[in-house]
Amino acid sequence: MGIQLGMPSIGSPPSAAGSGCATGSTADDAAGSHAGASDANGSAAAAGVRAADGLLDRYGRRATDMRLSLTDKCNLRCTYCMPAEGLDWLAKDKVLSGAEIVRLVRIGVDELGVRELRLTGGEPLVRADLVDIVAGIRSNHPDLPISMTTNGLGLDKKAQALKDAGLTRINVSLDSLHPDTFAQLTRRPFLPRVLAGVEEAARVGLGLIKINAVLMRGINDVESPDLLEWAVSHGFELRFIEQMPLDADHGWTRDGMISAAEIRGWLERDFILTPDPRQRDGAPAERWEVRRRSAPDVVAGIVGIIASVTEPFCADCRRTRITAEGKVRSCLFSHEETDLLELLRTPGSGDAAVAARWQDAMWGKPKAHGMDHTGLGDADYVQPDRTMSAIGG
Ligand code: SAM
Ligand code: SF4
Repeated sequence: MGIQLGMPSIGSPPSAAGSGCATGSTADDAAGSHAGASDANGSAAAAGVRAADGLLDRYGRRATDMRLSLTDKCNLRCTYCMPAEGLDWLAKDKVLSGAEIVRLVRIGVDELGVRELRLTGGEPLVRADLVDIVAGIRSNHPDLPISMTTNGLGLDKKAQALKDAGLTRINVSLDSLHPDTFAQLTRRPFLPRVLAGVEEAARVGLGLIKINAVLMRGINDVESPDLLEWAVSHGFELRFIEQMPLDADHGWTRDGMISAAEIRGWLERDFILTPDPRQRDGAPAERWEVRRRSAPDVVAGIVGIIASVTEPFCADCRRTRITAEGKVRSCLFSHEETDLLELLRTPGSGDAAVAARWQDAMWGKPKAHGMDHTGLGDADYVQPDRTMSAIGG
């Protein structure tokens, strides 16, 4: 890679950063012996990182997966994400414009080694210029995988246009197949509309459809096998996401959240789960092949479990996040943000300046969970001010 850091263990490729986030001894060593807090806040260039090194951090991880929030607004009020009354939405001029989004993605891909893009929010489908944004990005990057995470409301009307504009695939969040439970979780009675969106996305061929589900104790946890049966029988890949402490109501507790181990236990009553032999390759979800107990010789599908709390994967994190107002968040749980919007709007500031500021932001990426160790339930974990919807999940 040829990085001139004079700090071999920090400048090593991402694979050398260690694969066990829970212990993270390699990254600990690197942080302890070579990079102090001042390095985290100093510029990447001062630490010897060059433009061609991309979005490298001081633990040797390189971000290639860009998560871009298109809006902070949403038309659902999921209890684990938004308060019932919603949030104070950003003024339109504080949010990245379509042209700014297309430019940022171009800088990410052409200058900084971004290799895949996920559009998220808030709810991306509420943006009137969504199809134009996708088309603009696609025209610059014919081969870039572009996916979108959505709650599915309105997808039935936009799926074809999004496919035609160049969207590669879609993740739809769906926590329950029961109207009452769906309404309890999202505070809105819109299950039929979400199902219509999923159906249309499948019909137009929006890639492998992934379904995201968060299980909440005593509400939809009993549904986990039914959700999996529904997903595999439709050819969708279900992914359970452990609930993270990013809710507006600060209702999360370590004891109350449902762990990946519990989820696997419930699924295994009806299904046989065996590790997916494919390389995880930095993916947040641990994937399992699914066989029905009634037909154990047939792989019915795949299920993924994103265990950010109980089986964290920070040591292999490859994500860089941009909020709807153009701020880099190097980590979902970070307390720091770096503004790119101001630079984008400064006349004469070129792509290289934006790229350099983005690199600085990523150089300071915390080791894990927004701090120097994993532990979302630990006493020293401090929940960020922003909710998942405002960060861009
Ligand atoms: N509105 C879109 C949606 O719901 O798919 C995109 C944004 S949403 C913030 C992205 C994902 O984050 C969703 O799958 C949602 O379930 C998940 N999410 C939100 N809050 C969460 C939390 N506290 N813990 C775990 N996942 C969460
Ligand atoms: Fe909206 Fe998505 Fe958050 Fe639900 S999870 S409130 S759909 S942003």
